[in-house]
Amino acid sequence: MLEKFERYPLTFGPTPIEKLDRLGKHLGGKVEIYAKREDCNSGLALGGNKLRKLEYIIPDAIASKSDTLVSIGGVQSNHTRMVAAVAAKIGMKCVLVQESWVPHEDALYDRIGNILLSRIMGAEVRLVDEGFDIGIRRSWEQAFAEVKQRGDRPYAIPAGASVHKYGGLGYVGFAEEVRAQEKRLGFAFNYVVVCTVTGSTHAGMVVGFAKDGRQRNVIGIDASATPNQTKAQVLQIARHTAKLIDLGMEIADDDVRLFEQYAYPCYGIPSDGTKDAIRLCARLEGIITDPVYEGKSMHAIIDLVQKGFFAEGSKVLYVHLGGAPAVNSYSNTFLNG
Ligand SMILES: *Cc1c(COP(=O)(O)O)cnc(C)c1O
Repeated sequence: MLEKFERYPLTFGPTPIEKLDRLGKHLGGKVEIYAKREDCNSGLALGGNKLRKLEYIIPDAIASKSDTLVSIGGVQSNHTRMVAAVAAKIGMKCVLVQESWVPHEDALYDRIGNILLSRIMGAEVRLVDEGFDIGIRRSWEQAFAEVKQRGDRPYAIPAGASVHKYGGLGYVGFAEEVRAQEKRLGFAFNYVVVCTVTGSTHAGMVVGFAKDGRQRNVIGIDASATPNQTKAQVLQIARHTAKLIDLGMEIADDDVRLFEQYAYPCYGIPSDGTKDAIRLCARLEGIITDPVYEGKSMHAIIDLVQKGFFAEGSKVLYVHLGGAPAVNSYSNTFLNG
């Protein structure tokens, strides 16, 4: 589906799928849980889902003769860390706007984890005091204008690499990759569970799995706590991406399934259920999920299995999108394990 698009390799290749046997058994053994390890997808600064998206964006950045990648996220954004890594890898400068998206007071919040890695990689990090919003931000447009004014050539990458014309392509490729892996495994997954915030990961999957009519088996777990805006953005990116790749079918409103009940209390702050899910997954499988994103989708999968949402015998694919560096800034939360 992606043959006509240029791809700049930033990842190791297809990511492994592994069975979470102990977690599945712990939850009653009626549903098989598998994890697709997007968190281990690259050697660039600890990897994660944004690299799969950036593979289709970077050729455009290079072709545009830009010399500075300009992007935006929260203080502990995984996305901006990965943009910093890619800028280093391809020899560009990097300006990152880091907004106060999370009302979090860990003493070293703006010094450790993702932002620390971005600083080490040489990105110009700008802390801006603005709240959470997945849309286009003034602070980002301002940074873009300033880079231009000082004589550099900026290339704009929006929050989460999502509302970029090529932002949805990477996860169309993900669906193709899963289909190929399913052939080898000898079965198809009944559900794909994925964390959703800025939307292009989920949107790309919807388009990619629409090819074999499975788009409604993709279950997005909202972690934005602004689900209406997130769902609208997923739909918009999915429709745009479907046209871009000539999918040949319309994406319906119902094709985007977004479960809203795990995002509380707000973006970046874990509920007790999320904290318990992080501990359970870590203690049964040795897999680290974070309080902002993956812990919320892990909470969801555990809760949905326990509630009997998945029919007995279902094979459920949990997509682990990365994000572990952010746990450093939740030291108080896990002080006692
Ligand atoms: C960005 C991110 C997400 C959300 O992906 P979107 O494409 O923004 O919806 C989920 N998990 C992790 C670890 C992320 O970094």
